[in-house]
This record gives sequence, C-alpha cells and structure tokens, in this order.
Amino acid sequence: MYSKEEIIKILSSNDDSILKKADETRKQYVGNDIHLRGLIEFSNYCNRTCYYCGLRYKNKNIERYRLSPEDIINTANYAKRLGLKTIVLQSGEDVFFSNKTLCKIIEEIKKLDVALTLSIGEKTYEEYKSFKDAGADRYLLRIETTDKNLYKVLHPNMSYENRIECLYNLKSLGYETGTGCLVGLPEQTIESLADDILFFKELDADMIGIGPFIPHPNTPLGDFKINLKKNFDLSIKVMALIRILLKDINIPATTAMETINPNGQIIALQSGANVIMPNITNDEYKTKYNIYPNKQNQDILITKEKIYSIGRTISDNKGFRCK
Ligand code: SAM
Repeated sequence: MYSKEEIIKILSSNDDSILKKADETRKQYVGNDIHLRGLIEFSNYCNRTCYYCGLRYKNKNIERYRLSPEDIINTANYAKRLGLKTIVLQSGEDVFFSNKTLCKIIEEIKKLDVALTLSIGEKTYEEYKSFKDAGADRYLLRIETTDKNLYKVLHPNMSYENRIECLYNLKSLGYETGTGCLVGLPEQTIESLADDILFFKELDADMIGIGPFIPHPNTPLGDFKINLKKNFDLSIKVMALIRILLKDINIPATTAMETINPNGQIIALQSGANVIMPNITNDEYKTKYNIYPNKQNQDILITKEKIYSIGRTISDNKGFRCK
C-alpha cells in the first residue's frame, strides 16, 4: 500500500517503471483475458451542465437523440449475436425514461443471459434498488474529482456529497460499482489525484475508469489548453497505480485514452487495464454522443485484432470481479 506522499512522488516523477509493475500485477491477479463490454449510448439528452461535457443541456450545438426501448433491446440482441457477455447502457441524465420503462428494458436484456451495467447518472436509493431488482448487475458513476472545491465549480447545481452517497448506495445494494476520475482538469493538482486514488481504495470500487480530460469547444472549458502527451502519460500512471493498489478489479482501457493517443488502448492494456468497451451503438448515433471531440468509436473487429496483436485473449465469461 502506497502512502499519499509516495503516490504524489510517483505521479510527479519521470520514472515510469510502475507501468511494468502494474502489468505484472494485472497478469498475476486477473490474467491475460480481456473482457469486452458492449456499450450502447442510448440517449444524449442531459439535464446537467457539467463544465467539461459536450452533452450538457446548455450546449445547443448538438443534435439530440434517444433510442426507443425497442431499439435499445434490438441493439442488445445484436451484442449477444456478436458474442458479447456484458452490455453497458449509458446516457446523459435523461428524465424522459421513467423508472418503469428502464426496469422493463433491464428485464428484457437480462433474458439474453448477459451481465448488465448501467451508467445513467445520479438516482435515488429507491431507483437504484428497482434497477437492481429488475436484474442490473453493475453501475458506473465516476466521482470525476475528489477535490470538493473543483467538483463544485465544474458541476453547477450538483452536490459532491450526493455523488458520494450514490456510490455507497450502489455498493450497499450489491452492485459491482464502478467509478473513476478525469485527469488534467483545470486547477486539478497531483495531490488531488492522489486523493482520488485513495478514495477508490477506500470505496473498494470494483471497476475504475480513468479519462484524460479532452476540452470540448462548446463548453465553458473549450478554450482550456491541455498538453495531450502529458495528460495521456499522467492518466496511464494514475491507472497503473490503481491496478497496483486494487489488484483484482476491472480496469478499462478507455476511449478517451485512445482518442488522445492512437496507440492509447494498447498502452493502457500493457499498463494494468483488462477491459475494453467497444461501442455497438448504431452508427447514426455514435457521432452524436459527442462528449468530447474526435471520440474514437472503435469497431469490435479492430478491437479484437489489437487484443490478439499483443498476445492477449478474449474472455468467454461475464467478467465479474474475482475477489
Ligand atoms: N450521465 C452519466 C454520468 O454522469 O455518469 C454517464 C454519461 S457521462 C457523459 C460519462 C463520462 O464522460 C463522465 O463520467 C465523464 O468522466 C466523461 N466525460 C465527459 N466529458 C468529458 C471530456 N470533455 N473529456 C473526457 N471525459 C469526459
């Protein structure tokens, strides 16, 4: 276990030997298998105004869409035919979908004998419970940053405390709980990234996704200048430290990593990651789910080729965390 000071030292130094250590830890605890999770981005409507996100409702330069429940279920069937063992339903915080509709969709998808992950934002305990009762297995809700002041600035009309409560509610309801943070946000310090990592350990999160921040032109942070290479390298280091600290969890090589580095996912898979989430949403909608520019919507065949090219294998099970 690293102390906060040690984490800060590692993140601040040019020494990247922890990447190799993370790869060894990954191999020892979760093996060579990579879990593919079929991502369905079913609505880009959002009633939030997060400063970094292209889906924020104040962005009028986006063509909004939402899939019908029937289309969502059809896409899940397509994922099943592709041999995917997990389906991830993600959207902005779209109030259009009632609890009843969401539960019906969950029940239908669960008939396909797949694991189901939801990533639809902050809900009440009762709502999370109804999704769980309907069959949902996992939930992704990034804390984004544990720096309370920064959180407040970036998330108008949202509460840091509520987000934390949501994560503990998900855990107590028995979800495999995923969280994560953005790396490279304005005013974000190495110290606060160390706090993020220690928070993940304290929560004992089952999945952690690290997203290098990519400025979106139609957001308040659109003009923020980032150093793509520095941001990528730091994101990979954060991810590697997480693998070393939470040895047996699932860690995706994220789309944002691939977006800012053409070899990003392979580097991530060789630095601790063991999951990829190919986007199986209909092409018509993929580009409209524009959370940041140039989002790489990777084809499943290309993903598979990449995996085999580095001598890794594709898992044939649902890929739950093996504690
Ligand atoms: N509404 C759900 C939620 O809040 O968890 C899920 C959808 S949200 C668009 C998914 C993730 O996109 C967020 O957790 C955030 O970390 C990431 N994201 C949004 N804007 C981003 C940006 N500009 N750069 C990198 N990641 C971004």
